[in-house]
Amino acid sequence: MRETTCAGCADPFDGQPAYLVQGARWMGRRRWCGDTLLICAACHDSRRGYFNADHKTTPITWTALVGRGEQQAPVPCVACGQAVIRNAEPLLKRVTCSAACSTSLTRSRNGNKGSGQPCETCGEEITTGRADSRYCGPACRQKAYRQRKSHA
Ligand SMILES: [Zn+2]
Ligand SMILES: [Zn+2]
Ligand SMILES: [Zn+2]
Repeated sequence: MRETTCAGCADPFDGQPAYLVQGARWMGRRRWCGDTLLICAACHDSRRGYFNADHKTTPITWTALVGRGEQQAPVPCVACGQAVIRNAEPLLKRVTCSAACSTSLTRSRNGNKGSGQPCETCGEEITTGRADSRYCGPACRQKAYRQRKSHA
């Protein structure tokens, strides 16, 4: 799942740079859930959702760009290529636009080579996926799941 629409107004970014901000989403039941949000230039410039948002009009609230340093020029997300504007960060090595993208990156960095262990279903060596994969692929994972269910 990739966020290519604005968290504030749900407009697609259409290749335009998006702003990565510290914020929260309205989860319903009087609950805001802290998150980093990707919003469009219009939402950022109009400060829509800024600080004290009314969840009835804007489902997000945000306070500032992510990062501590100066505002950066747009940098493409290393996972999906969406141009992202955020503040510089001394520890920043790579820019991702969303939690989904940094997760997919972590996964691919972990080799996407699998665990090298035999698949628990078919015994083939696991050569793709995460380093802690227990199955060689979705088919075997499904099969194991169904077996567990039928034995339960
Ligand atoms: Zn927007
Ligand atoms: Zn991305
Ligand atoms: Zn297998």
